[in-house]
Amino acid sequence: MSQKNNQLHYYIDGDVLFIVEDSTFRVHKNIIGLASKMFYDMFACATPTYSTKDDNDIPEVLLEGESSKTFENILSYIYPNTFIMIDWNNVAEFLRFSEKYIIDMILLSAKTFLEKEFRKNPLYSLFLADRYHFKSLFKESSKLVLDNFPEYKREKIFSQLSLCTRNALTKKYTSYTDSLAKLANVDFISGYLHCDECNNSSEHDLKINQEFIERSKKVQILPLPLPPTQPSNTRDILFGSIGYRTCDNQFMTFQLPRKFKKHFGVFEPLECKKHKKDPCFYPYIELGE
Ligand SMILES: [Zn+2]
Ligand SMILES: [Zn+2]
Repeated sequence: MSQKNNQLHYYIDGDVLFIVEDSTFRVHKNIIGLASKMFYDMFACATPTYSTKDDNDIPEVLLEGESSKTFENILSYIYPNTFIMIDWNNVAEFLRFSEKYIIDMILLSAKTFLEKEFRKNPLYSLFLADRYHFKSLFKESSKLVLDNFPEYKREKIFSQLSLCTRNALTKKYTSYTDSLAKLANVDFISGYLHCDECNNSSEHDLKINQEFIERSKKVQILPLPLPPTQPSNTRDILFGSIGYRTCDNQFMTFQLPRKFKKHFGVFEPLECKKHKKDPCFYPYIELGE
């Protein structure tokens, strides 16, 4: 392999050479050392090998098994004279490299990119959150993955999730479809205490019961259609308003959430949507469960 100087990052006043594949980068110890704890320590402690053919006698670092494109991108991110954005094509490499060489600023930027953009690519975000132990990203992206689970399960990247995460997703989704299949058994009214203004509670019971039989039919068509109604849809349908009287309100605010949680488990909105009006609610899994 004949070595060539990198086009973007070969600085005449640089005081260290990085050899990555067939590219030579001539950069500054103080800039690299500020960005990376690992290189900082390396420059401070190690006795470097000196390039013999270079009359400047500057130390040489060989990054074996690394890609020169990735290293160039990393430098473009670190250096003040070049500009590069983190995007879906490079985020995985930015994460991998910055974790390996302890470049906290890039690790944090890549994580922030995913936390802002995960809705555009939930399964891939979950995969990266799984690999790099991003707790909140893991939980948020799992909500969207579970909402379209049959589809995501067929994607290639699904098989690259950790076994633990694949199992947790499958278990959570199966528990949802089981609950869906048993929805007709739920007595939504049992244990409900009508409010004082409700002058005819047995008639109100009847009305609510009828309404929820209708709603259950809407989400749970037997035999289950394929794919089953999405979790967020089921919840939307069940939580539609039943009326505007005080007792209707009380039922919707206290009784229905209790019954729903008992039957389906905990659903939550996305963190970024929870203060919006009528957010969608989803089941989710958490890292290390
Ligand atoms: Zn009532
Ligand atoms: Zn919704």
